Amino acid sequence: MATVTEPVAPAKRPRPRIHQTQCFIGGQWVPAQSGKTFDTLDPASEEVIASVAEGDAADVDLAAKAARQQFETGEWSKMDARDRGRLIYKLADLIEEEADELAALESLDNGKPIRDSKAADLPLTIDCLRYYAGYADKIHGQTIPVRGNYFTYTRKEPVGVVGQIIPWNFPMLMVAWKWGPALAAGCTIVMKPAEQTPLTCLRMARLAQKAGIPDGVINVVPGYGPTAGAAIVKHPDIDKIAFTGSGETAQMIMRDAAPTLKRITFELGGKSPNVVFDDANIDAAIAGAHFGLYFNQGQCCCAGSRLFVQEKIYDKFIDRLSGMNKTRKLGDPLDPATEQGPQVDQAQFDKIMRYIDLGNKEGAKCLTGGKRHGTRGFYVEPTLFVDVKDNMAIATDEIFGPVMSVLKFKELDEIAARANNTTYGLAAAVWTRDIAKAHYLASKIKAGTVWINCYDVFDAAAPFGGYKMSGMGRELGEEGLKAYTETKTVTVALG
Ligand code: ADP
Repeated sequence: MATVTEPVAPAKRPRPRIHQTQCFIGGQWVPAQSGKTFDTLDPASEEVIASVAEGDAADVDLAAKAARQQFETGEWSKMDARDRGRLIYKLADLIEEEADELAALESLDNGKPIRDSKAADLPLTIDCLRYYAGYADKIHGQTIPVRGNYFTYTRKEPVGVVGQIIPWNFPMLMVAWKWGPALAAGCTIVMKPAEQTPLTCLRMARLAQKAGIPDGVINVVPGYGPTAGAAIVKHPDIDKIAFTGSGETAQMIMRDAAPTLKRITFELGGKSPNVVFDDANIDAAIAGAHFGLYFNQGQCCCAGSRLFVQEKIYDKFIDRLSGMNKTRKLGDPLDPATEQGPQVDQAQFDKIMRYIDLGNKEGAKCLTGGKRHGTRGFYVEPTLFVDVKDNMAIATDEIFGPVMSVLKFKELDEIAARANNTTYGLAAAVWTRDIAKAHYLASKIKAGTVWINCYDVFDAAAPFGGYKMSGMGRELGEEGLKAYTETKTVTVALG
């Protein structure tokens, strides 16, 4: 079984300070109008970290008004694009200055190992903001030759006040993916962080204010989905919704957004195929398969949770994979040696355990893990199911936990159809030394991202998003920016 380091009680370990717990509206830190609060928990100890303002429709309305004022007539609406970019750079610098503290806060609230917060969440957050800071003064339209004596050009204008609703698996990074392009384009923001992980988003709002981003440009309303989240989606004075989360919530958002016909971008779930051919670099493929699923406790929308391994190498491959699971170090997220922390909350823990139970009942073979780890905190052992069939629930449903399903395949011909036999289409990976095979499969798999001989390689410049029920539109890169602009065509009679 996995190496065990029992989580220590939070009182005994150094904890990051909690500064912000209220709504951030129009530059003010204010309690929810209702006076309500909710608790955010440390998933490693199950103890309360802090009580946070529980915003709802009344608070969202104030936030939307503050955002509208800045968008229409505020300092932001008059600011030169290059100066907007300068403020985003400044925000990235301030985050970099506080990187250690922010990483600790993220690990405390989410449960992710501090080594991951430091190596992935923080640098990617900073990089994303800098990428879009550089875009702020490079957003421009075209001059277009039309018939007749006219001069026609397009303007790329900010879409307006945007509602941004984010999940708990990469709280800070999701803030950067949302704020970066919105601010670069000149939009103003009403954001709702996930109820499980509101703390780093609130801290980033404070840093945005410190950076000089005018009050009212960024507003944060912590709270629950059906109240604060739905209020953002229904608000008549919010122009666009950018949402990352589950498909079920996305369906509700689509319905709630219909009366006001808001622009929508979605980044949703996945059941990503990770295909290993027998001619692959096996060491790299094993490391990639392990990382592609177990990273972030399996709580990645693009997790490589369907691992297809070619027949000839199957036995050796799963033997080595299970070996890696057995030495994986579970423990206190704030311990730099920890490789795997707890799941984010009880609900996720319960869902994962239900799927493990289902996998056993359906006849898959559980080679490692399958149980709760320890007695406190939402820890799940790194779990490996082999002999999985394509139609088993553990091979079709998104589990969002450290549960890998390994499937066997024989031929190249069969694999594209099997990889595509899913309602999802977020990501995929192919491991082979045969360049033709790699590109052939990359062209056949219906997914927004295909990694060849690597996994989870993200870059602010590379578009990310889903085919099918994994999303609508793309985030990151130039496409991510376009989602925050409207195109206006202007035609002038020259005669
Ligand atoms: P998960 O199941 O991973 O928690 P959700 O889709 O439920 O994913 O949550 C992602 C985000 O969507 C969270 O910020 C959550 O509060 C929010 N949310 C949940 N329900 C709604 C809703 N009906 N309308 C708007 N936002 C919602």
